[in-house]
Amino acid sequence: MAKRFTDTDKWKKEWFVEIRGRDKLLWQYLCDNCDHAGIWDVNLVLASRLCGFKYVREDVKQIFGKQIKEFDNGKRWWIPSFIKFQYDCAVERLNPKNIVHRSVLRTLVRYDLYSLSVEQQGAFKELPRGFEAPKDKDKDKEKDKEKAVSTGVIVKKKKVCTLHDNGKPFYYEGQFCPRCFTPIGEPQNVDF
Ligand SMILES: [Zn+2]
Repeated sequence: MAKRFTDTDKWKKEWFVEIRGRDKLLWQYLCDNCDHAGIWDVNLVLASRLCGFKYVREDVKQIFGKQIKEFDNGKRWWIPSFIKFQYDCAVERLNPKNIVHRSVLRTLVRYDLYSLSVEQQGAFKELPRGFEAPKDKDKDKEKDKEKAVSTGVIVKKKKVCTLHDNGKPFYYEGQFCPRCFTPIGEPQNVDF
């Protein structure tokens, strides 16, 4: 069983002190049962059985309104603060060279939670270290290609990653592939 840090400061936080004991128990359950990125596959029936209290989705969402973010059509909840106390750094400070951090980053990007969390904190307008949401990246790639074709000039030197999409080349700038967070050095530089 995985060992996890627990946020001992929660006992100093007003929102935590004010909720009922049964909700404190649920919070502990969520923090122990979410994945390494702080994502929990919502299963309140199981949580209710294991904690011994009946939890209703709408009530819980109200109680933990600021602590959890619902996504994936309500199938999953994300606890953004989990990353801060588990890895002792803000989301945008996770280091792709660290294998665990990289896995967390991949998960957050997959669910569109990465840019969301950074936006919410308002700390960074642009994604650091060359991270970019995969959706926009494809559009940019097309634009760059068009430019290169129309002007006959090589627009930019980019890197290519072939570790996903069945080996289809994925072009990007910056130090790390924004999809798989492969560290610098592994992809090759290509002109196109
Ligand atoms: Zn990649």
